[in-house]
Amino acid sequence: MRIARTPRAAPGLALLLALCAPGPSPAAEPAPETPVVDSAMTWEEAVRNVSPRCPRAVLERQRLVTVRYYSMDGRLHQGQLVVDRRVVKDLEEVFALALAERFPIDKVIPISHPDFLRDGVWDDDLSMRANNTSGFNYRRPTGGGRISDRGHAAGLAFDLNPRLNPYLKGKLVLPAGATYDPAVPGTLTARSPIVRKLKQLGWSWGGDWRTLKDYQHFQKSSPGE
Ligand SMILES: [Zn+2]
Repeated sequence: MRIARTPRAAPGLALLLALCAPGPSPAAEPAPETPVVDSAMTWEEAVRNVSPRCPRAVLERQRLVTVRYYSMDGRLHQGQLVVDRRVVKDLEEVFALALAERFPIDKVIPISHPDFLRDGVWDDDLSMRANNTSGFNYRRPTGGGRISDRGHAAGLAFDLNPRLNPYLKGKLVLPAGATYDPAVPGTLTARSPIVRKLKQLGWSWGGDWRTLKDYQHFQKSSPGE
């Protein structure tokens, strides 16, 4: 190959070339933020101590989803959520939105974590008190009633920042001592992009309920296939 002779550039052209020079190489840019890992369970750990009454078919539909979010410390965190496979895509979209909006999510850890065990049983109260976001839990709905084939018992519901978004029914507040203040970052209102997005995707929000408020709660009653 013939080597082209370098043309002698006019001073003005040299300046223009300098101005058009590419910016810093990718190597010079700051490295992507390394997340603080809140949860890194195996599947076995994520379903350890599940209620022995949980039907096998329900358990087999659950998936362990890794999610990233900005926590209360302003840093990028990584956690895990157990939900029905039919809502995994929705959850991924919503967490991507929360990340883009920098909507703070305290922590996302499967309820099987030892911190949330009471007498060997998954305890939603301990999870709520820790302001933990969680999904699948084969249990009765908050407020009583039978275990249904919907909601948390089916992995078709999740609770977001429960200490900031409590369950309120008359004088009952769950978790105990929580207050609902929309001015606090991480609190959900009807105008929150996350709430609007989930409704678009066919979820219902406990903040819309009339007889009680369950601001932390989202549920998809018709998840499709
Ligand atoms: Zn809930």
